[in-house]
Amino acid sequence: MKKAIRIIAAALICAVLAPGLSGCAEKIDFGDEVYKNKKYAGESIFFNISSRILLSGYMSKPDNIYPACIDPFCDHSTESCAARTESPITATLTVLPEGRKLPLVYLCCQRWPTKVVDGEEVLLSAHEREMSIVKQFDAETGQAKTFEPVELMNIRSALLYRGILYLSADGFLGEGYRGRVGALDVLTGKCTYLSEENGARLIGAYDGRIYVMTGRGVVESCEPDFSDLCAVYDCQTGGYVNSYVDEGMLYFARSKTDVPAGNSTKTVFEVCAVDLKNKDAEAVTVASGVYVFMPYEGDLYYTLFEYNEHGTVSVSGYGEETVVSYDNGTLYRYDAEKGTSETCFSDIGASFSDIYDIDDGMILFSGARYRDFDEGKSTYLRIAICSIETGEWRELFADDEEEYL
Ligand SMILES: [Zn+2]
Repeated sequence: MKKAIRIIAAALICAVLAPGLSGCAEKIDFGDEVYKNKKYAGESIFFNISSRILLSGYMSKPDNIYPACIDPFCDHSTESCAARTESPITATLTVLPEGRKLPLVYLCCQRWPTKVVDGEEVLLSAHEREMSIVKQFDAETGQAKTFEPVELMNIRSALLYRGILYLSADGFLGEGYRGRVGALDVLTGKCTYLSEENGARLIGAYDGRIYVMTGRGVVESCEPDFSDLCAVYDCQTGGYVNSYVDEGMLYFARSKTDVPAGNSTKTVFEVCAVDLKNKDAEAVTVASGVYVFMPYEGDLYYTLFEYNEHGTVSVSGYGEETVVSYDNGTLYRYDAEKGTSETCFSDIGASFSDIYDIDDGMILFSGARYRDFDEGKSTYLRIAICSIETGEWRELFADDEEEYL
């Protein structure tokens, strides 16, 4: 009896909150925008720390950092927290469709290797362990929705286009680490897979088409439902390489070289650009000796490799640490229309290990602080934000997750 009353009450709430919709499924209008690499959403930055918890920090109040979960009774310590997952997170995506104040955040996770059966913890089968879980957290309502199992192993990147979450993974089951692409409908939860013999990885979406790169270095494109798959450009790299399709421009790395970096080596590339809008376009070299690159609105932002040692610092808990950088704190931009590169800023005292996102003239990165560091503090920057115009930057989140829990 009680259960029946609860169901009726739930149905009434649905009817009140979502007039005109059948059931509780929320149909969101994502428009035609391609959502990728996003961590910004309005004034906030959404991301995970230690693969466990999602935090949001307001740009206007950078020190105000807290769990993104809005349930006042939640202590955010268990799986039941909407903005948390127990499984290791392998990729995230933040999506802010028009008209919304706060985003939907997608957490792609490798399945936790054990499950509880009759009160006992048992190991999942090899087949089960290779699958992923995708959790959708709605920062506006505080509600979460979980999609599983997704038949992909180690999802590396995600892109949302017209309500479909495209997922690029290392592979699945007996296929080895060859690349596999899936398409998850975030309304129905149905996931389909690109039938691709060559281990494709997702590299972008443009003008109504999805772009992948095969394990042979060939860029292919298809319709959003994976039909009409055809070759677009052969990068002639003989294998998969870092690549992006952005606003009709294809950027890819070739001539991979290992160069000495202190006691180890680092890999640098020649990065090429192809204008896919021009059917006969040839690849042009953007730059050689490139360390990190990321496209934004058709242009390419990149750093050049330059190994530097800046002396030693005493870090509490770690002892003596040599401060090194792999670029000289300089960011370059390739203008796809002009076909030329320019310097955005020079030697800002911090280097870029990774560029996470570029938006609104700001660049979100992790790297090393090699100038003006405090004695006793790590020089590693977990997340920092930098103005592309001025090169002014600040650390957003330090390396100590405990502070934020
Ligand atoms: Zn919570």
